[in-house]
Amino acid sequence: MNTAYLLIGGNLGNRSAYLQKAIELIQQICGNIVHSSAIYETAAWGVTDQPSFYNQALALETEFSPSALLHNLLAIEEQMGRKRTVKMGPRVIDLDILLFDDLVISGDLLTLPHPALPMRKFALLPLCEIAPDIIHPVLHKTICRLLDECTDTLDVQKKSIAAS
Ligand code: ADP
Ligand code: MG
Repeated sequence: MNTAYLLIGGNLGNRSAYLQKAIELIQQICGNIVHSSAIYETAAWGVTDQPSFYNQALALETEFSPSALLHNLLAIEEQMGRKRTVKMGPRVIDLDILLFDDLVISGDLLTLPHPALPMRKFALLPLCEIAPDIIHPVLHKTICRLLDECTDTLDVQKKSIAAS
């Protein structure tokens, strides 16, 4: 059994409902969600002329390999109606793998740990809530320490208490 940490998020439509639907589908298809963070709200990153994002971190126990997990997550995004238009543009749902055990992978389709993790407070803050002491397998620092050292200036606000 493997443990993957996911970041799920979106900024279109009923954002909480999309997160909840994604959690249900991930639980049905990909494995067992053992921890989930609160929902955090962040101003859009990169392309700023769009609604704010809701993000949530999940700990998932899964039998899938990293590539099979990614494949299934992309299928869930598609099933939920995600259309890929502008890079970093608005989306109903984005399902990213932040960490997968202590694997380090650099491929065309999949990079692990997620390369943006250390730079993004909207990923580190929810992840720190559920996995503060996990060690980043490339930087050899805890998530909590990466958050302390992160210079991202975007405001990230905790919205709600985790449902599970
Ligand atoms: P982003 O998440 O950066 O906004 P997309 O969701 O459109 O962009 O993802 C583009 C591609 O990134 C995916 O098709 C996938 O192949 C690739 N990718 C590489 N590493 C990862 C990862 N760790 N988690 C999710 N997708 C990844
Ligand atoms: Mg993505």
